[in-house]
Amino acid sequence: MKNTMKIQFLSKSENEAFARVAVAAFVSQLDPTLDVISDIKTAVSEGVTNAIIHGYEGRDDKEVYIECELEDNTLTIKIIDNGVGIKNIEEAKEPLYTSRPDLERSGMGFTLMETFMDEMEVSSREGQGTIITLRKTI
Ligand code: ATP
Ligand code: MG
Repeated sequence: MKNTMKIQFLSKSENEAFARVAVAAFVSQLDPTLDVISDIKTAVSEGVTNAIIHGYEGRDDKEVYIECELEDNTLTIKIIDNGVGIKNIEEAKEPLYTSRPDLERSGMGFTLMETFMDEMEVSSREGQGTIITLRKTI
């Protein structure tokens, strides 16, 4: 079985909840456990929050994109922004690294995404934006 879904929304914090519920609804066709749904929602929230607060530096008039693909029992989620990008991806992925301690961020977003999903890839170019690819077999 293969299925796909794409959504696009403004970089407003109100849309974080929308995004995680939309992805959870898409995944529900596989009949996942509540634990699995909760893991996926957490990962999507972290990725979307990063796109808004870091990628778009809190501007609320930019577009965030999510692309989901289900192939057999594997879910792939891409969270895409056209924001500032990440200069040093390895450093950004370190647990507890944050470029915004002033916003009381804890630097755990990437660590949570890696923990709750089976795979995480980060692709980014400075001044162009960031694509986070998350994968989980359900
Ligand atoms: P927390 O997620 O715990 O609130 P955080 O967002 O700073 O804190 P991570 O989510 O792990 O921590 O991200 C680490 C760092 O990577 C961020 O501080 C930021 O510098 C950078 N980063 C993450 N996502 C993006 C993005 N979409 N665009 C630009 N920079 C990003
Ligand atoms: Mg974060």
